Amino acid sequence: MKRVSIVGGGIIGLCSAYYLAKEGYEVTVFDQSAMDDGCSYGNAGMIVPSHIIPLAQPGMIAQGMKWMFDSQSPFYVKPRLNSDLIKWGLQFYKHANANHVEKAMPALRDLSLLSKELYQDFAKENDSFFYEEKGLLMLYKTDKVADEMFHEAKEAERLGLEVDYLTRAEVAGLEKGTKTDVLGGIHYKSDAHLYPQKFMKFLKKELQRLKVEIHLNTTVQDFIFDKNSIVKIVTDKGSFATDEVVLAAGAWSPTLAKKLNISISILPGKGYSFTLKDKDHKPSIPTILCEGKVAVTPMNNDIRFGGTMEITHTGDTKINQNRLQGIVNSINEFYPEMEVGMPKVEETWFGFRPCTPSGMPIITRDKKVVNLTFATGHAMMGLSLAPATGKIITEIISGKKISVDTKMFQL
Ligand SMILES: Cc1cc2nc3c(=O)[nH]c(=O)nc-3n(C[C@H](O)[C@H](O)[C@H](O)COP(=O)(O)OP(=O)(O)OC[C@H]3O[C@@H](n4cnc5c(N)ncnc54)[C@H](O)[C@@H]3O)c2cc1C
Repeated sequence: MKRVSIVGGGIIGLCSAYYLAKEGYEVTVFDQSAMDDGCSYGNAGMIVPSHIIPLAQPGMIAQGMKWMFDSQSPFYVKPRLNSDLIKWGLQFYKHANANHVEKAMPALRDLSLLSKELYQDFAKENDSFFYEEKGLLMLYKTDKVADEMFHEAKEAERLGLEVDYLTRAEVAGLEKGTKTDVLGGIHYKSDAHLYPQKFMKFLKKELQRLKVEIHLNTTVQDFIFDKNSIVKIVTDKGSFATDEVVLAAGAWSPTLAKKLNISISILPGKGYSFTLKDKDHKPSIPTILCEGKVAVTPMNNDIRFGGTMEITHTGDTKINQNRLQGIVNSINEFYPEMEVGMPKVEETWFGFRPCTPSGMPIITRDKKVVNLTFATGHAMMGLSLAPATGKIITEIISGKKISVDTKMFQL
């Protein structure tokens, strides 16, 4: 059977490994880290068919410019005179229009719904990762944001998703875990959530069972070619022969692509989270606090808060206290009973979302390198879209009929 090498052992790499191994491929995963704390671990764990509108959308440039001047805002682009950032910004500008959003929405919906079905299959096998289907509450405090949320919800309904529009009292009736101070909310029934660290643990066990080889702390440095095929993966621990390569290196994907003479535009969108254990009066339903773009997820007895999107570089590992304060302020404004203080630096997690300027993931065969497939660029939805991505990667490599239309997921 063919050997497939996967570069990157985040959720996208591991889901790809899972479906490839099940199909009978001999799979090896390489990761530069110990695979225990990257972007796929401390995220908000939301599975979000509701998120059909990509980040690149009309109005985002104007809103982003306003947020740039507020140190506690949820979105920020670290200004640098850097060609990758300029290219990314120009591409973002090109995609932030109604035409792109109209094409992106059904593509994201179909990929998301497929992923949710695959999560349901995983959850039938094992419930160690606390998969639950409680939907997603979008809570807002202002008329302006209510209008934006209504518009998005109407689009979601047009695409067949089930949505409830809630008054302040109806929000209180649904969210019984804690008091909420809001104008109203929107409940997307389609969404689900899980505990990311526990899901990654489950996946790793499954891969062990399927005899997938995992090389931890092994950095992929280069590729050796025979004509237009990669024949060897070069790492800091030696070289490995291969028949197929999947590039799933998250925010680091452009550096590896450069080694292959391929240019891909992905920048890290740094975000933070912190998790409170055994907190009283905590929310029971996954929620986004819309004005501050803060994600709130109950995970078994824990509660996780996540947010901010700082478009930066992978060397930027500093925890920005102002932005963290922005998250904490939102929590206390929306949940008056919670009384959440600033987490210590050592209790604060950060991760780099792999953000494409179009807001669409890249799930495709390369046009020149015949045995190279990309699985990257999932930005804020990598957990949500991972099983479907893994399944599609397997279908691409094995030449099978592809489950969803991948036109929007090209390089
Ligand atoms: C605060 C926050 C909240 C989020 N909430 C959600 C959510 O609720 N739902 C959702 O769907 N998504 C969410 N996300 C996004 C999600 O976490 C990411 O999209 C996802 O984890 C990306 O997975 P990945 O496998 O592509 O990348 P990663 O998890 O970053 O994995 C890439 C791997 O490649 C490895 N690598 C890189 N270069 C090399 C090399 N040269 N050699 C070997 N290995 C290499 C890295 O070590 C890394 O382990 C959130 C993100 C953040 C930051």
